[in-house]
Amino acid sequence: MSELRALIERANSIHEKIAAEVPQLRRGMVWCYTCGREERVDSAASLKHGWPTCCGFTMSIDSPEERQQRATLRALEEQEQGQSGWPRPTAGGGDAE
Ligand SMILES: [Zn+2]
Repeated sequence: MSELRALIERANSIHEKIAAEVPQLRRGMVWCYTCGREERVDSAASLKHGWPTCCGFTMSIDSPEERQQRATLRALEEQEQGQSGWPRPTAGGGDAE
């Protein structure tokens, strides 16, 4: 059953791999937007076991600056969509019930 063992080992290392490849995870920091606290985390362990919480919410891997940028980008995108009147893609792919 060496194939199964290899599969299990690959599954176990996937979190380390993700943590090493995603920049927000690689830096190993999370933020609380409510009180502004920041905390060092082991991203691979957090992917497996859950992220730290603060003020009743899960802490974010986006820094406050990145969150602001993202909100600005989203606002711009929504504005553009509103102006050009593109059809909204429907979730779930059509009228399948
Ligand atoms: Zn907090």
